[in-house]
Amino acid sequence: MGRMSALSVSAGDRNDGRTAQCWCCGTSEAPDRMVHLGEHPEVHLCLQCAHFVHQRAWAIEDEGKHGPAPFTREQFRKLRAEVVRRGWHQNRSIGGKLRWLGKYLP
Ligand SMILES: [Zn+2]
Repeated sequence: MGRMSALSVSAGDRNDGRTAQCWCCGTSEAPDRMVHLGEHPEVHLCLQCAHFVHQRAWAIEDEGKHGPAPFTREQFRKLRAEVVRRGWHQNRSIGGKLRWLGKYLP
């Protein structure tokens, strides 16, 4: 998975001792900086993983709407040309999403 930066945030320099571990990536964080599940409050997600889960939810919803491969290769080429035209490929967060999207294309 492409989330190797998640572990670069270390809890070693915190002195308050109140940290919880992310159930997704294992990062330690202050509990009030984490997302808790309603039925299982013992389950913590760091904000990074919560954003990741959110993205996955949109992706799964999209798959439901358009079928498993919403873009053909040609449509993706057009999309990429549009992205370059707008300079989005220089935006780190959008660029990362596009690389992630590329994995699901034929
Ligand atoms: Zn996490």
